[in-house]
Amino acid sequence: MTVVYEVKDGLYVNLTNRCPCACAFCIRNNGDGAYGSDSLWLDREPDADEVSAAIVAAHPERFAEIVFCGYGEPTERLDVLLEVAGRLKRDYPDIPVRVNTNGLADLIAGGSVAARFEGLVDSLSISLNAADAEEYAALCRPRFGLESYGAILRFAEEVKRYVPSVVMTVVAAPGFTDGKLAACRAVCERIGVPLRVRDYVT
Ligand code: SF4
Repeated sequence: MTVVYEVKDGLYVNLTNRCPCACAFCIRNNGDGAYGSDSLWLDREPDADEVSAAIVAAHPERFAEIVFCGYGEPTERLDVLLEVAGRLKRDYPDIPVRVNTNGLADLIAGGSVAARFEGLVDSLSISLNAADAEEYAALCRPRFGLESYGAILRFAEEVKRYVPSVVMTVVAAPGFTDGKLAACRAVCERIGVPLRVRDYVT
């Protein structure tokens, strides 16, 4: 099964297929892999030793960054994520570590987890995708319902105290208008986190 895969100059880590959302634009709706990878559907979830071994076997020093992303929400396995990130910081301190997340880590864990990222993760890319709770719930269909959006914003605001670079993202999917983009920008300005527009990958 594919635990790590290459995307451009990054080594991506596939920890889980679990996710509390069912986004309308999710890449998982369109196939089994991403960016030319083999299937990212896991037979089972790899433990920290297996993930670390897969990273080492891929020669991480060849890559500009290690990215926890994959075919699911990486903070569904926060303990393993942070354990592996800690090993990376110990053994490859010069390689930046990024997490691509839907920002629902607090709701998944049942409490605030922002401080746990300190010293282990260099950047966080948090999906915003909508300018209000209703729009977010309709587009991303989180199992936590309408409280999800506020939880994402709180997580983003809090985690920037512990992670050097935090950005929020929107996907330029069909129907994402300039008006929606402007509204998302206003939300990000309010909480002091930059916004990045991601390409829609089919
Ligand atoms: S949060 Fe990410 S993995 Fe989960 S459904 Fe949405 S796009 Fe897919």
